[in-house]
Amino acid sequence: MDYYSSQISSLIEQLGRLPGIGAKTAQRLAFHIICMPTEQVEHLAESMVQAKKNIHYCKVCCTWTDSEICPICTNVKRNRKMIMVVENTRDLAAYEKIGKYEGVYHVLHGAISPTLGIGPTDIKLKELMLRLQEDVDEVIIATNSSLEGEATAMYISKLVKPTGIKLSRIASGVPVGGDLEYIDEVTLLRALEGRIVL
Ligand code: ZN
Repeated sequence: MDYYSSQISSLIEQLGRLPGIGAKTAQRLAFHIICMPTEQVEHLAESMVQAKKNIHYCKVCCTWTDSEICPICTNVKRNRKMIMVVENTRDLAAYEKIGKYEGVYHVLHGAISPTLGIGPTDIKLKELMLRLQEDVDEVIIATNSSLEGEATAMYISKLVKPTGIKLSRIASGVPVGGDLEYIDEVTLLRALEGRIVL
């Protein structure tokens, strides 16, 4: 990319490192940023730096938050005795969007995958088991229906069963291999309401 000056090349290179951004999109974005008002660019850069500095795991459910405990865990109207286990914060957001779930969540930040070398200790399973020592009525496993999601669901069910806590798995209305965040709200609600007791 010698035809660009080094600062432009560097911006394109940095943007191109982001997931889902190919070389062409990186160029388009770079020139878009260059044409943006300085104030907007500063705001964008500052948002990124602040998010990186201040966002961490919720002390209770492990979702991403900028406070010690996330808004869902601090909400007194939520049923703390019902915990839905999801793979990531985007899945949590998908369930929150339908607005029908009154329980709380537990975010694993991944799924067990022997091929990728991700084992049970690499995701937030220990934190989940600690929460189950408190008064919990039901654990709903809402991991994806991918190979990794199913392996994780199986592992969780083996861990939870001996505790005697009611255990369920979201129904198979969720397409196999489907990423929860891309599934429409009706399908998601049906999957939740039709959950199967394990
Ligand atoms: Zn939380």
